[in-house]
Amino acid sequence: MSETNETNLSPVTCPRCGESMHSATVKTAIWRDDRLFVVEDIPAQVCDSCLEQFYDEETADALRRLTEESFSSLKPKKEVLVPIFSLEGRIVRASSSEEACSDY
Ligand SMILES: [Zn+2]
Repeated sequence: MSETNETNLSPVTCPRCGESMHSATVKTAIWRDDRLFVVEDIPAQVCDSCLEQFYDEETADALRRLTEESFSSLKPKKEVLVPIFSLEGRIVRASSSEEACSDY
């Protein structure tokens, strides 16, 4: 007689790197129509090694339904102020940028 619990849907090892994973509650950020939404309280398996997050089928489905249908109509649980920075003008390239300015 087997006492093994086969109903556990969560993968035990990371499909990506094969290291062990642990259960965690995570949050994710989703851009939609130029707006940023954060979803938290997501049950996930997180890889100890590469930190990749995996959701089971029901969780992924709930997340997909939330993003596709509910973001516009649901009242969020809470809102946060998100600082947004730009990389414009901050990218330093090694080649030729100095020469471009030397004409002036
Ligand atoms: Zn991994």
